[in-house]
Amino acid sequence: MALTGARLARSGAAVLALLGALVPPATAGARLTSTMIALASPTADGPFRLVCRTLPPRFAGQALPWRDLVELSQYSCGRIANVIRHRDVSVAEAADLAGSLLHEAAHVAQYREAGNDPTVFSHPTRRFEHDAECRALAGMPRVLRTLHYTRHFIAAAYRYFERVVAGEPRPYGGRC
Ligand SMILES: [Zn+2]
Repeated sequence: MALTGARLARSGAAVLALLGALVPPATAGARLTSTMIALASPTADGPFRLVCRTLPPRFAGQALPWRDLVELSQYSCGRIANVIRHRDVSVAEAADLAGSLLHEAAHVAQYREAGNDPTVFSHPTRRFEHDAECRALAGMPRVLRTLHYTRHFIAAAYRYFERVVAGEPRPYGGRC
């Protein structure tokens, strides 16, 4: 899982009006999740299921790889929609949100690479959390390139997220 912590503590209502008035809300939600899946599939070692739903406070998302599933908070989904649309997004926020999505996708990859073995998440050091952060960092430039952010923006987002990960507490933090 990824705790939102300070990174996503900025409060705000989830806005899922992804594609405006062109499509009904249900379709917009489906479009959003399919876009997020496409963006994160390389980090997950393939397609997976993704739902946006209410999660406990401070949860940006969680992975349930044994169900092929990533769950993101409504807040995260709403903000990721803005990242996809280049709407009102800072470098830090784009990095945090892409990082949240990719972190959970990385857990799906960890599970698959372990031969669908859930005990991969039982290791007492929980270093799989750090590994997921590093995979998220590694996948970030590709995601932001796909969304047509500028090289300058992508480089800044990468450096920002690299610093975030380096400064996080265990088991998330450290140098990649
Ligand atoms: Zn995690």
